[in-house]
Parts: sequence; structure tokens; C-alpha cells
Amino acid sequence: MKLQLNDNFARIKPSYLFSDVAKRVRAYSEAHPDKKILRLGIGDVTLPLTPTVIRAMHKATDEMANAATFRGYAPEYGYDFLREAIARHYEQLGISVDAGDVFVSDGAKSDLGNFVDLFADVPVLVPDPVYPVYVDSNLMAGREIEYIEGNEANGFLPSPAGLSDVPRLIYICSPNNPTGAVYSKRGLTEWVEFALRTGSLILYDAAYEAFIADGSPCSIYAIKGAVKCAVEFCSLSKTAGFTGTRCGWTVVPAALGAVKPMWERRQATKFNGVPYVVQRAAEAALSWEGTKECMENIAYYKENAARIADLLTRKGIPFTGGTASPYLWLKCPGGMGSWEFFDKLLNEAQVVGTPGAGFGRAGEGYFRLTAFGSRAATREAVERLDKLL
Ligand code: PLP
Repeated sequence: MKLQLNDNFARIKPSYLFSDVAKRVRAYSEAHPDKKILRLGIGDVTLPLTPTVIRAMHKATDEMANAATFRGYAPEYGYDFLREAIARHYEQLGISVDAGDVFVSDGAKSDLGNFVDLFADVPVLVPDPVYPVYVDSNLMAGREIEYIEGNEANGFLPSPAGLSDVPRLIYICSPNNPTGAVYSKRGLTEWVEFALRTGSLILYDAAYEAFIADGSPCSIYAIKGAVKCAVEFCSLSKTAGFTGTRCGWTVVPAALGAVKPMWERRQATKFNGVPYVVQRAAEAALSWEGTKECMENIAYYKENAARIADLLTRKGIPFTGGTASPYLWLKCPGGMGSWEFFDKLLNEAQVVGTPGAGFGRAGEGYFRLTAFGSRAATREAVERLDKLL
């Protein structure tokens, strides 16, 4: 082939964090086939879809088998029944979102990556450490990235204090992956006020909002003025175990002016909708019964998190997260580097976590454990780490 490729791809790291982790784990298990490896690394759920969701999927599948109820292409922005269910979900949080501003997606990752199609070569502000998709999708598009550091001093919740007044695309993830830190209303208000003052746009990732239980905002729209300066990405992946089922949504308020019609145009051109069966499953997950079941699953993961948190506390290892988040973000003991600690846990306890350095420069020296494992695996991992650390 003689065509010139997009050089910007050379700016991103050649392999994705989780592929690196998987490669090391594979090499270890090939060399030690007798060892049982416990995975507290990747943020994938382990509990199955709930009964209400499964019932809705079966019913929708039966509809697809009958000519009278069969559905072809779904509307690009989502079926009204789901857009309205999502608007009701916000209503239950005390937030008013117009169903017409809701765009059903096949998960938050796609839209987070795709949304940057709408912008020219604008400045981008990304917290560090953070979910790698924000960085990579902007690098692929040729943009420069300015980082704002999360650290122990700011509780891994950077604020806009001290930033210049340049308008930017600003990424915020709360509860944060990987640190588990959650912005308070005051913290988010500072960002909204900054965005309004500077003409910036906040891209708010609320993928873990269902884990919040302490009254912190579950949505950027809990903050006054946010409809004029923020787009919100949300997902049923962690809320309802949809990592393999694939459904989420993006809220693009009409109050943002040109942004919403551009997103409509982009989606109508490049996206053909989420399967009917999946949208019915999502509607069920957001129903009263579905929400109740999902919250029971989240309570199960939170109990795992509490067990890991208890271990870290007993060992005197500083950490954030684990209460309003499935993630625990700990400081590697003894000044160890992230990958050094990864190798130690893999080699000496056969426990797999995620090296903090994979989430950005400021993640070096930190490590992420997740509470998404089964209770038995979490218990066993905690016992092994108790002996090792
Ligand atoms: N946003 C954050 C912060 C995540 O951690 C993840 C997945 O791990 C996603 C978005 C992607 O979620 P989805 O499965 O909806 O694509």
C-alpha cells in the first residue's frame, strides 16, 4: 500500500495499557501453569445481568421473531422509550434533562472518542491520572494536550485555580477512574464557573455515578449553569453490568447552541443506533425494579471494596477511592514504581492489579485495584496481600 497513514497515531503509545498487563500475565501463567492467578486489574464486572433485564431481553428477542413486531434500523439517537427512561433517571436525581437532548450510545467509550470530531484544533485539558481514552482520542486527531495533575495534595481532584483564561475542552471524570476520587458540589461548581467564564466546554464522564451514595453530585447538571457548558457521557456498563451488552448515553443540551445539531449530524452520518433488544434491556435496567437489582449488585462490589480498603488501612498504605467507586488507588509501598509493584504482586502473590503509570505520568508510584471480582476471589486476594505486604 502506498497511501500515507495518519502520522498522529505515532504519538500514542503503541500498545494499550491493558494489553501490556495481559501480556505480562500470560507470560507468567505460561511459565507457572500450576499457579492460580487472581485478577483485580481490568475494570470489568463479574455479576450477570439482573432478572428484570434478562426478562426484557427475552421479550424483545421474541418480538424480533415475529413479523408484526420485528424492528429494523433503530433511530440514530435512540428509541423514545429509552430516551424518556433516561430523562426519568435524571428526574429521580432531582435533575431536569430533556429527553430530546439524550443520545443513546453503544457505551460511553465510543462517544467519548467520537465527540472530538466536532472540534477544530482546540486546546484540550485532561486530568492526570485518568482514563486513557481522553488522551489517545485527541492525540489521534492531532491535538496538543495540557495536563492538570491530580495528586495527594489535592485529593486527586484538580481545580481550575491558576489556569489561564484560554477556552478549552475540559475532561472531568467523577467518580474518577483510576483514583476513585469524587468531586463535591463545590469542586464541580468551580469547574462550571471556570468553563462559563472562559467559554470552555466540559466533557463530563459519569460512568461510575451509580456508586455515589454520599450526596456528591451524580451528574454535572446538578450544578447551576452546566447546561450551557457541559456534555455528559454515561453508561450502563458498571451500573447494570452492560460491559458486554453495550449501552450508554450522551446528553448534549440544546443550550449549547451549534454543538447539538452538529452531534445530531455526526451521529446520523456515522452511527446506526443501538440494537432494539439492548435498548429494551437498558430501559428495564432503569426501571424501578431494575434499578433496585442493579443497586444490590453495586452493594456487592462495594463490600469487596470495603474488604480491600480495610486491608490497606491496616497496612498503613495510603489510598483513595473504594467508597463511591469500584476502584482503590494506592500508593506503592516502599517508594516502589508502579510496574515494579505490579511484578511483585504477580510474582509473589499471583494477584493482578493495574500499574498507575498506565493512567498518566502523575500515576507513577501508584496502583489500582478493583472491586469487580467475585467475593471469593477478592477474599483470597486480600488474604494473600495480607501475608505479602
Ligand atoms: N469512562 C470511564 C471512566 C471508564 O472507566 C470506562 C470503562 O471502563 C468507560 C468510560 C467506558 O465505558 P463503556 O463500557 O460504556 O464504553
